Amino acid sequence: MPHKHIKRASGKSGIGSVPKSVPGPKSVPGPKSVPGPKSVPGPKSVPEPMAGRRPGGTVTEEGGSGKPRRAPGDDAVPGLVTVAPDRARDGRAFDLSAVDANADGGLDKAAARQALAVERARIAALQERLYAEHARSLLVVFQAIDTGGKDGTIRAVFEGVNPQGCRVWPFKVPSAEEAAHDFLWRYHAKTPGRGMIGVFNRSHYEDVLVVRVKGLVPEPVWRARYGQINDFEAMLAAEGTTILKFFLHISKDEQKERLEARIATPEKHWKFDAADLVERRSWDAYQAAFADALTRCSTPHAPWHVVPANRKWFRNLLVARTIADTLEAMDPRFPEAQPGVAGMTVPD
Ligand code: AMP
Ligand code: MG
Repeated sequence: MPHKHIKRASGKSGIGSVPKSVPGPKSVPGPKSVPGPKSVPGPKSVPEPMAGRRPGGTVTEEGGSGKPRRAPGDDAVPGLVTVAPDRARDGRAFDLSAVDANADGGLDKAAARQALAVERARIAALQERLYAEHARSLLVVFQAIDTGGKDGTIRAVFEGVNPQGCRVWPFKVPSAEEAAHDFLWRYHAKTPGRGMIGVFNRSHYEDVLVVRVKGLVPEPVWRARYGQINDFEAMLAAEGTTILKFFLHISKDEQKERLEARIATPEKHWKFDAADLVERRSWDAYQAAFADALTRCSTPHAPWHVVPANRKWFRNLLVARTIADTLEAMDPRFPEAQPGVAGMTVPD
């Protein structure tokens, strides 16, 4: 019987690691009759928070201005903007309009597609280790305005991933049962278990986005939620879940084109929702709500990444590379084999 005896990452606080002050769960001892294997050593390098790490040649925002900045000495693809986790404390609102939704990193479509294939292969290989290690998990959150590309990104980035180790959860208008609970209830129930990658297509952020824009709850209720979300994510991180949050940033013109394409193409009619035209009238209110969520909920353990998303192929590459880099930093390990496995023979 396979048994796990895995020591959790500890030491410096960072994504996927356990802050010193919070003791991780005890290692699970192997069955008594079988001598348990040695503990699997924790990750070689303690993963740092993504902010400032510039995963895959991404950029961090410049203090104060909200303008993307190329990282010095960074020769990889620039484009992703990681929202500085100190913004909320410093009271500096993130300026979404400073991020160019058309950015393409100087790449063309063909080069980006080739690079995406490499990232997919990295993700697949690292996911196998994460699954085998069965100690930690990765939660990937996608938010965007309607037509922003959440579905397409998930399809492109997770192609090739073993479906057994990955679950995608789309969140729609809450059901009666969901609405009868606290707002985090339905999301917490879907967070990834050990060894798993969980993907949220929309997320707990809807409760400070659509809910705020449409005034579905009183203002003091949604205002309190930024802190509640930060506490929720801090708890998940302390328990061994690395959190990646992507905001797919498209321009208003691009949304118009995508809606028109849905109307013009019979195969896309199923995706067209007339309600999107109504929501589009609240474009500015949504942008303000997104900016607030990015500002208030970018934390060292769960930073927000803003992805220029007008060009789908560039968007896919940035997301895939960030996920691959994050998994690599987590450094999942295969558990140690039972003693003597390598030399065993299988009887006829
Ligand atoms: P779609 O993702 O396009 O299939 O649409 C899902 C719809 O559910 C969107 O219009 C969201 O705004 C809406 N939605 C998701 N979460 C919530 C929530 N917590 N409260 C109200 N509406 C929500
Ligand atoms: Mg929709």
